[in-house]
Amino acid sequence: MGQTCGMPSDATEPAAPVGRVRPAVDALPAYKPGKAAEQAEREHNIAEAIKLASNENPYPPPAAVVEAVAAACRDGNIYSDHRATAVREALADRLGLAVEQVTVGAGSVALLYQLATAFVDPGDEVVTPWISFEAYPISVQTMGGNVVRVPLTADHAFDLDAVAAAVTERTKLVLLATPNNPTSTAVSTVAVARLVEAVPGDVVVLVDEAYREFADPGLGDPVAELLPRFDNVAVARTFSKAYGLASLRVGYVMAHPEVVSAIDKCLIPFNVNGLAQAAALAALSDEAAAEAQNNIEAVKAERGRVTAALAADGWAMGDTQANFVWMQLGERTDDVCIALEQRGVVVRPFSGVGIRVTIGTPAQNDRFLTTLAEVARPA
Ligand SMILES: *Cc1c(COP(=O)(O)O)cnc(C)c1O
Repeated sequence: MGQTCGMPSDATEPAAPVGRVRPAVDALPAYKPGKAAEQAEREHNIAEAIKLASNENPYPPPAAVVEAVAAACRDGNIYSDHRATAVREALADRLGLAVEQVTVGAGSVALLYQLATAFVDPGDEVVTPWISFEAYPISVQTMGGNVVRVPLTADHAFDLDAVAAAVTERTKLVLLATPNNPTSTAVSTVAVARLVEAVPGDVVVLVDEAYREFADPGLGDPVAELLPRFDNVAVARTFSKAYGLASLRVGYVMAHPEVVSAIDKCLIPFNVNGLAQAAALAALSDEAAAEAQNNIEAVKAERGRVTAALAADGWAMGDTQANFVWMQLGERTDDVCIALEQRGVVVRPFSGVGIRVTIGTPAQNDRFLTTLAEVARPA
């Protein structure tokens, strides 16, 4: 090696590449996670920053989950069940599905990568409205696939007719986050069904419901309404947001058994660790589900308060169905984001487009509202 601890060499010549990274990977942007409060504190030399940048639940996991995870630590020397069978069974039971229709992953993002690995060859296309979840293009481009980004409408909602029109014979997947991250609006299952009817039956349409629990139930349930009708629909959900298990990494996909089995083939051995499996099982207990529901209601109530306060200040907001709000700030985005951050409020910028602000505790939300009023006025 000639170097120690990954320190750069002091040679003046550019070094020959170490290994031949695939061009598709070389070209990848890095996934940008929300900035940690501690990092903002260091960067701006401030104290007591708050992070409203990653759509985390402001409340800890239900007590039964914490207990189950602590107990599962004692089995830390034993490999977890590769297939997370008990979690699949519990989910299938709860959702009224066959166990063959359910798969479990290390967060729904891992399942997204598995889906891309299973379906996308170099040159294949994946269609998604844009802007949307930033992990979508990365997972597709990792496989050498091409992302076809379909612009949102002027008010940042999905244009599903345009999505359908963008599907070609090269299209393998359609990725649809509803509610959408970062724009917060959602589409109904009726609208998704129209889209699915308009695309070939061998194009898998993934309905990513990471924020489902915060959305209006009147929008429908794709598991109950779409899976029985369409073999090519897959639905992704997660324990990360509504249940507050983001760090434990457990999500699930419901789909036709053939799609599940393809996703399963790409599962990294033991990727869903034992603590995550114990957490998911405990989260599905009546007691934990009731506690999670209380937290969801608290977040929804705060969301109502925050959106009303922003509207009263003159901000135009979309109809948020998630645990965050979306503010279209256009060119002002980076400036507003930095000004908030310098005052200890870390939000998620989408440069040139807008900021995404997670609903936190009442005190955190007050801090955001007060600080925003200090740094920006509606245009
Ligand atoms: C947060 C999020 C996920 C879920 O991520 P996990 O890997 O389950 O933590 C999936 N999709 C979208 C759109 C998200 O915002």
